[in-house]
Amino acid sequence: MPSTKTVDLAAHPLTAWQGPLGLPDFAHIGDGDFSPVFDAALKAHEAEIEAIAGNKEAPTIENTLAALELGGEALDHVSSIFWCRAGAHTNEAIQALERDISPKMSRHFSAISMNERLFARIDDLYQRRESLKLDAETLRVLEKTWKGFVRSGARLDAEGKKRLAAISEELSSLGTTFGQNMLADERDWALFLDEADLAGLPDFLKSAMAEAAEMRGQKGRYAVTLSRSIYEPFTTFSERRDLREIAFRAFTMRGQNGGATDNTSVVREMLKLRAEKAGLLGYASFAALKLDDTMAKTPKAVHALLDPVWEKALEKAAADQTELQRLAAEAGSNEKFAAWDWRFYQEKLRAEKFAFDEAELKPYLQLDRIIDACFDVATKLFGLTFEENKGIAAWHPDARVFLVKNADGSERGLFLADYFARPSKRSGAWMSALKSGYRLGHGSKPVIYNIMNFAKPPAGEAALLSVDEAKTLFHEFGHALHGMLTDVTWPSVAGTSVSRDFVELPSQLYEHWLTVPAVLEKHALHVKTGKPMPKVLLDKMLAARTFGAGFATVEFTASALMDMAYHARPDAPAEPLRFEAETLEKLDMPDTIAMRHRTPHFGHVFAGEGYSAGYYSYMWSEVLDADAFAAFEETGDPFNPALAERLRKNIYAAGGSKDPEELYTAFRGKMPSPEAMMVKRGLV
Ligand SMILES: [Zn+2]
Repeated sequence: MPSTKTVDLAAHPLTAWQGPLGLPDFAHIGDGDFSPVFDAALKAHEAEIEAIAGNKEAPTIENTLAALELGGEALDHVSSIFWCRAGAHTNEAIQALERDISPKMSRHFSAISMNERLFARIDDLYQRRESLKLDAETLRVLEKTWKGFVRSGARLDAEGKKRLAAISEELSSLGTTFGQNMLADERDWALFLDEADLAGLPDFLKSAMAEAAEMRGQKGRYAVTLSRSIYEPFTTFSERRDLREIAFRAFTMRGQNGGATDNTSVVREMLKLRAEKAGLLGYASFAALKLDDTMAKTPKAVHALLDPVWEKALEKAAADQTELQRLAAEAGSNEKFAAWDWRFYQEKLRAEKFAFDEAELKPYLQLDRIIDACFDVATKLFGLTFEENKGIAAWHPDARVFLVKNADGSERGLFLADYFARPSKRSGAWMSALKSGYRLGHGSKPVIYNIMNFAKPPAGEAALLSVDEAKTLFHEFGHALHGMLTDVTWPSVAGTSVSRDFVELPSQLYEHWLTVPAVLEKHALHVKTGKPMPKVLLDKMLAARTFGAGFATVEFTASALMDMAYHARPDAPAEPLRFEAETLEKLDMPDTIAMRHRTPHFGHVFAGEGYSAGYYSYMWSEVLDADAFAAFEETGDPFNPALAERLRKNIYAAGGSKDPEELYTAFRGKMPSPEAMMVKRGLV
C-alpha cells in the first residue's frame, strides 16, 4: 500500500542527515521509509526541474546550470543510502524495492534529458559560451551537460527523436535477450563425471564440481559446467585430454548452438541498430559515438594502444607455445598441440618454475595491518590522516567510520569501510559515495565508503588476507582516495565522475604501493612472530605475476580488437560470425588460443551497452597505471614529494574537471606509452 502520509524531506532521517559527523542517522531509518521518501524526493526534483525549465528570466549559469546541478539533493541522499543498503546490507524488502525503484529512476532521468524547454536554456548558454567568459571548469561542465542532452537526441526533429527512442528500446531488449541466452546455454550444459574421471583435479575443484552435480540432481557425481570458475580450473588441471576438449568446445560455442538461445541473429540486429543510432546522432561509427567522451576519444587512438601490444603478445605466445610443446612431448603426448592443451601445460610449467604456496604468504597479511598500510601510503603521498570514530553507527555494526584530515589538520571528509562478508552483502568489492565533495552552493564534504568481502575470523583472531585480497583492498582504497581528495566546484565532475577509460587509474595505480618494499617491511608482519615477510618469498610472489602473459594478453586483446572491428565501421557486417572468422585470420590469431570472449557470448559488449566499443579500456587503464608508477620509479623514490603533489593535484583531486588527456599530461609531462605496461606484463 502506498503511504498516504506526507513526507517532510527537510526533517526525514533519509534526506536530512542529522547523525554524528553529519552522517545519516542510520538507527532511525526503517526499510519501510524508502518507498514514500523516494516518491516525495522524485516529486520535489520534478518541481525543481520545472522551475528551471519554466523560468521566465533569461538563462544564466546561476539560474540554469547551477540550479540543475544542485537540484535533486533529497533524491541524491535517499538514493545513496538505498544503493548502499542494496549492495552492502540487503533483505527481501530492499530487493523488492529495487525492482520498483530502478525503472522509476530511469523514467525520471530520461524525462529530464528529453525536456525540450530545459535543453533550450542549456543550448542558449552553450551557444553564447564564448561571450560568457567562464572559468575552464564551468565551461567544461556546460559543454558536458550540452553534449549529454545532444547524445540523448535533444537536437533531433520529432521523427528522429521517435526513431532514437525506438532504437534504444529495441537495443535494450536485445541486450537482455543476449544475456539470457548466454545464461541459458551456460545453465543447460553439464558434463557429468565419476570419481575415475577426476585425474589431476585439486580438492577445491572436486568439491565445486560435486556441488554442481548435486544441484543438477546427480548427487554423488561430478559436473563440469560452463561457469568460468569451474571451466578454467578444469581445463587447467584435468589429465584427461578428451574431456578437456569436450569442455573447451562447449565453452567456446556458448550462444551459438542453434535453436531458441542462439545469439547470432541478436548480434546481427544489435550491430545494425547501433550503426543506425550513431548515424542518427551524426557520428561516423558507433565506436566514434561511444569514444567521444573518453580519454582515448577515437578508434585510431585505441588501435595505437592495442596494435603494438598485439604484436608483442603474439611473439610472446609463440615462444611460450614452443616451450609448452616441449613439455607436452616430454609428457609423452604425440597429438598436435591444441587450444585445450594450453592451460594444462602452462600450469605444469608454472608449478615447475614458481613452486610456492599462497598459504605461506597469508600469515604476513593481516587485515588491520594492511589497512594501516593503505592509510600510511596516503599519509606519505598526500598528507592525509585517518582517525577511527568507534561507536558511530552506520548501516551495519561491522562498518567502521574514519574522520579524514588534511596535513594542516583541517577536516577533509569521512571514510567508511565495511570489510567482512555476510549473507546480506553482495559479493565482490567496491567503492561508492554517500556524498561527493564539491564547492558549488553551500559546498559538500565527501563521505566515501569501501565494501569488501573478507572472511570474518573467529572472535579474538586476526583476519588474514591473500595477496589478491590485499591488492583489492589497495585498489578500492585508491578509488576511495579519488573520491576523498576531490577538489572541484561542480558536483557533476567530482571524484570518480570521469570517463570509463580513466576511472581505474587512481585505483590500479594505488595497488603498486602494496608491493613497495618499505611498505611491506613495515606492515607485512607475521601474525605470530611479528617478523617481516622474507625477501625470497616476496621475490617469488613478484616473479610469478608475469607468468603466462603471452596467453592472457592474446586472449584479451583479440576480444578487444574484435569489439573495435565490429563498432568502428559505419555499417554493420551482414554475417557477424563470418566477419569474426575473417577478422581473426587477418590478425594471425593462433589456433591454439581462443578469444577470451567469442562474439555469441561477449556479454561485456552485447548484454547491454556497458563495454561496447569499450572492452579496450581495461588495458588502457593498465597502460596508465604502469606508466604513472614508472614516473615514481624513474625518480628512485616511490614517495617522491614533488611528483606526489602533481599526482594529487592532477589525478586524485581533479575529478572530471578537465580533459583526462590534459590531466595526465600535466602529471606526467607526456602522454602514456604502452612500454611500461608491456614490461609489467613481461611481454618485453
Ligand atoms: Zn576498480
